[in-house]
Amino acid sequence: MRFETKAIHAGLSIGNPSKAIIPPISPSTIFEIDAEGRNDEDLHYTRLGNPNRLQFEHLLATLEEGEAAAAFSSGIAAATAVLQALDPGDHIIIPEDVYAGNRKMVTGIMNRWGLESSFINMTSVETIEEHIKPNTKLIWIETPSNPLMRITDIAAVAELAESRGLKTIVDNTWPSPVNQLPLNLGADLVLHSTSKYFGGHSDILGGAVVAKKQDDFYERITFIQKMGGAVPSPQDCWMLSRSTRTLAYRMRGHNEHAAKVADYLSNHKKVAVVYYPGLESHPGHDIAKKQMSGFGGMISFLVDGDQQESIAVVGRSTLIKRATSLGGVESTWEHRQSSEGEGSVTPLNMIRISIGLEHPDDIIEDLDRALSG
Ligand code: PLP
Repeated sequence: MRFETKAIHAGLSIGNPSKAIIPPISPSTIFEIDAEGRNDEDLHYTRLGNPNRLQFEHLLATLEEGEAAAAFSSGIAAATAVLQALDPGDHIIIPEDVYAGNRKMVTGIMNRWGLESSFINMTSVETIEEHIKPNTKLIWIETPSNPLMRITDIAAVAELAESRGLKTIVDNTWPSPVNQLPLNLGADLVLHSTSKYFGGHSDILGGAVVAKKQDDFYERITFIQKMGGAVPSPQDCWMLSRSTRTLAYRMRGHNEHAAKVADYLSNHKKVAVVYYPGLESHPGHDIAKKQMSGFGGMISFLVDGDQQESIAVVGRSTLIKRATSLGGVESTWEHRQSSEGEGSVTPLNMIRISIGLEHPDDIIEDLDRALSG
C-alpha cells in the first residue's frame, strides 16, 4: 500500500469493536479485566495503553516503516525518554544546533544525571567519527537541523554507528515520513514532535519514538513511557490520527510553497543567505536530494542587516504571524536567536519561517511588505 492509503487506513481496527469507520474516542482510564488480570486487547489502565493511543502508535509505526511506536505527551518528553533509556556515564553525540529545547534538556537535566554529551557540527561523517569515545552509545541526528538547516548523511552515519555498536536516532520532525524515511536508511530510531506536521494545525502537543526493531533498548523506552507517565490523552491521540490522514497532501503543499518562497528570498536584495536544502546552492543539497523525497516547509535566512533590523522585519508582516513552533497550516516566523536564548549558535540576523498552506503568492506579498518596509 502507498503512503497516502496507509495514512488513511492504518490502525483503525485496533480497539474498535463496533467497526466504526472513524473509531470513537475512549476516555475511560480503566478497562474490565478477567480473573487473571487480562482482557482481549491487554488493556488495563490508560497510562499503560488506550485504544486511541494504540491506533495512533500503529499508524506512526506503519508510516515510518518501523516495527513499533511509542507516543508521548510532547516531543521533548519522547526525547527525554530516549536519553533516560541510556545509563549514567554513557556519552552521546548530538548536533550543536539541535532543537534548542533538546539542547537545554540535555545540558540542564540529563548531564546532571550523568549523561555525557558532545555538541558538534554533524555535516561531516569524519568529524562525527573523531568524537566517538569508548563510552559513546548514541548518535543523535537532526537533518535538516533546526534552525541552521545543516544536512547529515543518515546512511553514512548509521553505517558508522553500526560498525561501532552504537545506536542512531533521527529527529524526523521537520521532514516528516512523507519526505524522509530514516529507518530505511539504517537508523535505529526516529523521533517526532507530533505537535508539528502530524498535528498540522498548531492545536496539539505530542511526541513519539518509532523503532526499527523492538529490541531491549526500545523496551526500555516503552517502560519509561509507561512508568514515567508522559503519555498523550486519548483525545489528543484521536486528533493526531485524524490529522495524519491528510499528512501527505499537506506536506506536498508545504514543500511546493517553501520552494517558491526560497526562490523568492534568494533573489531579494535585503536577504544575505537563504538556508533551504532544496536550493542547489545549499551545501547539503546533494545529500538532501539522496535521502529526501521533498525538502519540507521550513526556511531560515539571514537578513542583510543587524539583529535590530532582523527583529524589525519580523514585526512588519501582517499575514505571517510572529510565533515560535512550526508545521501548521498557517505561516509563522520568528527571530530565532531571541527564542533560543542562552547557548544558541544561531546568527543574530537569522529569521526562521514555517511556510504554511495559504496561497504562496499571498505569503510572498506579505514577505515583500516586511522586507521592504
Ligand atoms: N524536535 C524538533 C525538531 C522541534 O522543532 C521541536 C519543537 O519545536 C521538538 C523536537 C520538541 O517538541 P515539543 O515542542 O512537542 O516538545
